[in-house]
Amino acid sequence: MVNAQQRIEKIYEEVKNRNPGETEFHQAVWEVIETLTPVLEKRPYYAEQKIIERICEPERQIIFRVPWQDDKGEVHINRGFRVGFNSALGPYKGGLRFHPSVLLGTIKFLAFEQTFKNALTGLPIGSGKGGSDFNPKGKSDNEIMRFCQSFMTELYRHIGEMTDVPAGDIGVGAREIGFLFGQYKRITNRYESGVLTGKNPTWGGALVRKEATGYGVVYFAEEMLKVRNKSLDGKTCVVSGSGNVAIYAIEKLQQLGAKVVACSDSSGVIYDERGIDLETLKAVKEVQRARIQAYTDQHKDAEYREKGNIWDIPCELAFPCATQNELDEQAAQTLIENGCIAVAEGANMPSTPEAVDCFLKNHIAYGPGKAANAGGVATSALEMQQNASRDAWSFEHTESRLRQIMTNIHKDCYDTAREFDMEGNYVAGANIASFRHVADAMLAFGVI
Ligand code: NDP
Repeated sequence: MVNAQQRIEKIYEEVKNRNPGETEFHQAVWEVIETLTPVLEKRPYYAEQKIIERICEPERQIIFRVPWQDDKGEVHINRGFRVGFNSALGPYKGGLRFHPSVLLGTIKFLAFEQTFKNALTGLPIGSGKGGSDFNPKGKSDNEIMRFCQSFMTELYRHIGEMTDVPAGDIGVGAREIGFLFGQYKRITNRYESGVLTGKNPTWGGALVRKEATGYGVVYFAEEMLKVRNKSLDGKTCVVSGSGNVAIYAIEKLQQLGAKVVACSDSSGVIYDERGIDLETLKAVKEVQRARIQAYTDQHKDAEYREKGNIWDIPCELAFPCATQNELDEQAAQTLIENGCIAVAEGANMPSTPEAVDCFLKNHIAYGPGKAANAGGVATSALEMQQNASRDAWSFEHTESRLRQIMTNIHKDCYDTAREFDMEGNYVAGANIASFRHVADAMLAFGVI
């Protein structure tokens, strides 16, 4: 007779064997299932029905060729992916990532994470993720358009407002969503607004979607601080990345009285002791689409550290908002030695497992991405609601819904961790709470 812990270790071995070489996927699976032992002990029925085994296997995985021509007429071939991971709670939902590092295993790890994140929102969305190894950097608008059109020419047959609803992620913003939606509309002969989220608000997008992930992670941090009788006001913060999530995390932090002294891109770090000037940052990243180094053209006293490590900069609050595994054990140690009290993840799985252990052991308020960055997908679900009712909500109304959702997610994670005698452990709280939401729906549907 195997006990719950042995069963989980066996499941993990099977996942590794069935998905060879997909190390990020293995990491994401282990990070969730290692916290589920107490749930199986409390409710063995989940184990009897093989719910964890089922949750670890994607419902479907699609891989396709994406040929396109550059401005000189040269033909390029990329690979497109869409993984529908779990549809127990609603249509597959999750973003598209365009980045040269994208492999099937990357998409599977992101889609797996999305299962738990989406469940935490309390909204009717399943999980999926997709993307391509296409590198949008340095491409003209026309090249981006041709790539997006080719990508959608295959993807369209697999998606739909009731089936699978993609959105943006790294390398996919409002421009790309526009090209993708245009091609979908053209091929299908349908103005099906709810098939993609992250649309421009002038043609069916939700206000606040652009800001949602960044704002949401700050609201989550605020809730974690409240539990400790602290606030954001006056806190020194570091935010990695300078993309969609990072920019709007910085915006909300500043609105709530915190001071952000550093941000980054994959080439280097900007340290501005007086506080990052958001207007300049937006001009550099959103308008010029330039490297972050260009920030110092406007702010001569700010420092640019080529290939610098952002986590070396002392701060009280850290917001990893760039990419997976960007914060390792050494960085976690440095943050703690420098007086960091809370870490809220805007990116997906940015902290390595060793870094997470380090935060938990040192009682840092640590909000894992699947909880802390769920505001983006939650607002995507609000966009789907607006599309379904052919309505458009105000910025204030949508933002207040987002804030309430983040408060609820925090409470769900916090209360669940407490129920299992792990008060303050948001990793366990998030995993267990979301697992139960998904598992109970799956059980209701029988063996499918
Ligand atoms: P963007 O493409 O807008 O920005 C990504 C940022 O991260 C850029 O500044 C980029 O720099 C930097 N970056 C990427 N790779 C690396 C790397 N290897 N090392 C250092 N910096 C890097 O993406 P988003 O802001 O949308 O996404 C950021 C993270 O947040 C991802 O993990 C994403 O999955 C997650 N997320 C995003 C959501 C959203 O709503 N957008 C929702 C939930 C999670 P450079 O330009 O040099 O590549």
